[in-house]
Amino acid sequence: MPEDRLPADRLPAERDATNREPTVNREPAVDPEPEEQLPVFDALDNSLEVSPPHVYADNLIEWALQKGASDIFFSDEPEGVTIRVRRLGRLKSVSRLNRSYGHRVQNHLRVSAEIDPTAGIHTPAEGRSQIELSDGTVVDLRLSSMPTLFGQDLAVRIFDTSEPLRKLDELGMEDRAEHLRELLARPHGLLLVAGPTGHGKTSTLYSCIDYLADGTLKIHTLEDPVERVLPGVLQSQVDVETGCDFHDLLKACLRNSPDVVMVGEIRDHRTAETAIRAGLGGQLVLATVHAHTAAEAVRTMLAYGANRHFLADALIGVVAQRLIRTLCLECRVPLASDGPIPVPERVAEKLGGTQPQLYRAEGCSACSHDGFARQTAICEVLETDHRFAAAIDAGESAEQLEMLAIDAGMTPLVDMALLKAVRGETTANEIRRVTVSSEVNRLAEYARRAAATS
Ligand SMILES: [Zn+2]
Repeated sequence: MPEDRLPADRLPAERDATNREPTVNREPAVDPEPEEQLPVFDALDNSLEVSPPHVYADNLIEWALQKGASDIFFSDEPEGVTIRVRRLGRLKSVSRLNRSYGHRVQNHLRVSAEIDPTAGIHTPAEGRSQIELSDGTVVDLRLSSMPTLFGQDLAVRIFDTSEPLRKLDELGMEDRAEHLRELLARPHGLLLVAGPTGHGKTSTLYSCIDYLADGTLKIHTLEDPVERVLPGVLQSQVDVETGCDFHDLLKACLRNSPDVVMVGEIRDHRTAETAIRAGLGGQLVLATVHAHTAAEAVRTMLAYGANRHFLADALIGVVAQRLIRTLCLECRVPLASDGPIPVPERVAEKLGGTQPQLYRAEGCSACSHDGFARQTAICEVLETDHRFAAAIDAGESAEQLEMLAIDAGMTPLVDMALLKAVRGETTANEIRRVTVSSEVNRLAEYARRAAATS
């Protein structure tokens, strides 16, 4: 394993001096969890000069993949080129290269992604490349460069398709997966998946498509970019350079008579209108939209100028989701009791008789000394009914729509978050990171006090 080749006490002096604690994305001061502790990457056995940049880049990408990272960033900073990785949605510094060597690594990556060499680093640019790992697996990379104050920020997104596609039951949605299957059984209509960027919306859509792809339906996905190949499914990609956006693709694809269409993202009026029209016209349309809750997704569609009467008729449901990190079961530490855990009655009932127990992250070799092992989804699934459709048509607010949905049986996302925390699957602080709720704040405050006395 590359990270084991060079223990910290044998790091060259220059590198040693730069192995500071990450200065970005720290947990808040009240966080009872330990510092992020991803091991520092150093695949160079000796000096920087003897390893060609492409060897360093290849080793780094392979190491990051082994650690489960989704992105690597090479950022010009006053002290050199800082390398950070994003793992389980969190950023960590892993290395810093001196300026000249760092630029050679960045240049190698730009060339490999066929980024126009005349563009220079002062112009935003993007490209794609592939890397062959030591076991022969080929991994797709998407690179984008952005000019910054000290040079460029070069982002490398890793598309690891060696991991099998997750089934609907493997997303962490628990009993909500059944609701989702019921929505997918509808012959037509619009189903939205909402959530912030980086919270697994596309993965959920892929799992939906995988569930539907039994060979009897013509399924077409419109993506930006295509992240993985789905067997038996037609896939098209947005190409801004040729002026082919989501709306153009959707309009063209509808002429080819699909049964199911996946729209990577609704982000403008034309796409919103066409998706709604397709949902009314006999297709099952699955699409993501930027919104924090299921009710807000409706308001987002209206903000794009969608006709609320047609939206009310077309919309069959909304999934709103977040990704949270789950604790490593090898090393999580139970928090001592500091009085009754403040868990709402409706959530306590779902524990099925077991006592609530909070844990904190620790870190061990099984979880890359991170304390967290993987990511899982928490979600709410809104299924529209006549009353909800009438409320959309009447232009009700997101708050009113949410109350109506809960009244009709929707369990809000925050309840699933609380449940996962008091079952010890994640920390109270982790769910506070992705939800806004006084109940979650109370639980996180309790965990902070309990950790201080543990
Ligand atoms: Zn662990």
